[in-house]
Amino acid sequence: MKKDQLANDCWGIAFCWCHSLRWLLVSQIKMCAIKVQFCCAVGDFQRFKIHSCVIGWNFKKSIRTKKSQSRLIIVRKKLEYKMSYCKVIPTLEPEARYLLHKNYHDNHYGFPIHDDNELFGRLIMEINQAGLSWETILKKEDAFRLAYGGFDIKTVASFSEKDRERLLNDSGIIRNRLKINAAIENAKTIVLLQAEHGSFQQWLAHHHPKDKAGWVKLFKQTFRFTGGEIVNEFLMSIGYLPGAHSEDCPVYHQILETQPRWRIN
Ligand SMILES: [Zn+2]
Repeated sequence: MKKDQLANDCWGIAFCWCHSLRWLLVSQIKMCAIKVQFCCAVGDFQRFKIHSCVIGWNFKKSIRTKKSQSRLIIVRKKLEYKMSYCKVIPTLEPEARYLLHKNYHDNHYGFPIHDDNELFGRLIMEINQAGLSWETILKKEDAFRLAYGGFDIKTVASFSEKDRERLLNDSGIIRNRLKINAAIENAKTIVLLQAEHGSFQQWLAHHHPKDKAGWVKLFKQTFRFTGGEIVNEFLMSIGYLPGAHSEDCPVYHQILETQPRWRIN
């Protein structure tokens, strides 16, 4: 019931959005709106974000006046608000899927991590998510942990050619050579950062505060396979950047008590 309501709300907003458009790209945008509706219905937040971005981009291309553009931004914000991760969780089915996301949302997402290996593990998971849904990665978390030496940084940094081959043949994880290489090379980099700064945590603390663009630049200079979205999600998920939870989510207030870095400038 809740799921249908959410899908209808989102569809309503997307429809109004399309309806207000009288320019050339209307059919293309309608197509995207249908995809958005579908993603709402199945609770696929990642794809929803992609399609809503496509709508936004098409609108920007066709809307010339500033007034229309600002109206568009308001509509898009409303749409995204309706589909925040916090709001989607209760609508997820079946039970196993709901519990998988609920556990991550309630106990991990946005909470500070104080262990270097766990920080590294989260970075590996975020890198592996690129192009895939977060759900795919969450389901594989145990297999990732097992394949990548319990996320032990020193162990992964010392992985041999044979380990690379083992990872490439492990169907439990994401078998992508670039992502596997990134995990191993990033582990080597973190070993160096630990030697220089005491820990990976302290390296992060040393560079705090930065805005998203500043962090992305730093990560790109330091690590492999760390594009804008990966860096943003990684830092949000460990409490360095705000935005993991909406302010009306109970977990948001639990996280405030843990003094996330984004609260301390
Ligand atoms: Zn939340």
